[in-house]
Amino acid sequence: MVQRRIEMTMRIARRVLDEIHAHAESTYPAECCGLLIADKGRMIIESMRVANAYSGTRRDRYDINPLELLDADRTVSHRELSIAGVYHSHPDFPASLSAFDLAHSFPWYSYLVVSVPKGRVGDTKSWIPSLDRKTAAEDDIEVGE
Ligand SMILES: [Zn+2]
Repeated sequence: MVQRRIEMTMRIARRVLDEIHAHAESTYPAECCGLLIADKGRMIIESMRVANAYSGTRRDRYDINPLELLDADRTVSHRELSIAGVYHSHPDFPASLSAFDLAHSFPWYSYLVVSVPKGRVGDTKSWIPSLDRKTAAEDDIEVGE
């Protein structure tokens, strides 16, 4: 955990990023969300789609059911993988974390945000929330094979 904060780089496999981008376009104009699954070297090697459980308009909000998160955590732990973070899309909005996102974030996760202007993937940025969940630091994204 501490190491990751010093490192400040999210490493993600190209095909995983492609899957996330496809997911983001497919749910437009609603937000999509999912989990980032990492191997022991903290490389993100899988994504896991989860339902946007937000009960209101899903155009600018997402929510992940905590039971689904717990279940996913167990599943990946059995495979000696871990949940490194959460991704979601921002239809027609920049790829930064909103105040709502920050308030609902967990500081031990990375947050990948995909901007989807007019239904097509735009900027993709990674953020680490501060411990008080009021600000976030941007991570570099390193795309690997
Ligand atoms: Zn958001």
